[in-house]
Amino acid sequence: MSEERFNELRGEEVVYAIHRQDRTFLPSRDHCPLCPTRPGTPPQAETEIPFPAYEIAVFDNRFPAFDAPRGAAEVVVYTDDHDASFGTLAPERAEALMWVWRHRYRELGARPDIDYVFIFENRGVEVGVTLHHPHGQIYGYPFLPPVPALEIAADERLGSCAGCALLSAELADSRRVLYESDAVVAYVPYAARWPYEVHVTMREHRASLLDCSAGELRALAGALQTVVRGYDALFDRPFPYVMAMHQAPTTSAAPADAGTPGESGHLHVEFYPPLRTAEKLKFLAGSEQGAGTFISDVLPEESAAELREAIARGA
Ligand SMILES: [Zn+2]
Ligand SMILES: [Zn+2]
Ligand SMILES: [Zn+2]
Repeated sequence: MSEERFNELRGEEVVYAIHRQDRTFLPSRDHCPLCPTRPGTPPQAETEIPFPAYEIAVFDNRFPAFDAPRGAAEVVVYTDDHDASFGTLAPERAEALMWVWRHRYRELGARPDIDYVFIFENRGVEVGVTLHHPHGQIYGYPFLPPVPALEIAADERLGSCAGCALLSAELADSRRVLYESDAVVAYVPYAARWPYEVHVTMREHRASLLDCSAGELRALAGALQTVVRGYDALFDRPFPYVMAMHQAPTTSAAPADAGTPGESGHLHVEFYPPLRTAEKLKFLAGSEQGAGTFISDVLPEESAAELREAIARGA
């Protein structure tokens, strides 16, 4: 079982999930636990998914950071094709994934022990991926974690939804906007912390996936795939990133009126890529770790121009 301890100096929880040291680390493709189980495989050699083929699979993480009755940790496998990626999924599959995420947000968010449902993907060994098969994860936190708490604090500081306010500012400026549809906008934020950070946000105020129409979910899938394909085209290599979806907290204690209109939280997806060039990583060093201030050597307007070209190449 994992243990939570409150770190007084940081004012935040730290989770000790010590059993995770034993988890599967970069297995060969013949031993991939997320591949389908071929017919005739003996039971002891079955993968995590006991079917010869599948579309999208969701199951409890065998090495969970959180577990009932104090949270949840799930794995979401995007496809049974070991060599695919989020960007290469058929558009219908990516759209189906939005519905799977929506369903998990609803189910996990309804649990009294889960205050925040966090959907994310780590891609690439640069961000610590231990399995290459295309997949993401969902954590159900038994508390409101610091990053979404800061976003709610931003709503309060601005007196209305920060997501709506930042989007209008980006659209008015337009230099950092990468992609627009009727429902979704992608941009490099004005004060990006990572050289190629991108935010993909709903054009209308939507607190969570539950508030989105079918058309908006389709548009979100399309925008996310466009960004990821652009990333892969940028340096002509699979582009590592952390993808983080932020939505309204699912605790009844969450301030319901922090965002106007609607609930606190504005559905958006943030990408944090660790690369600053094709080969060089951005390290979090003294200033970032010890003082909490990001120092970047590229302006967001410059990386936005590069990413716009890459998105055109990747389309
Ligand atoms: Zn696989
Ligand atoms: Zn909003
Ligand atoms: Zn966010």
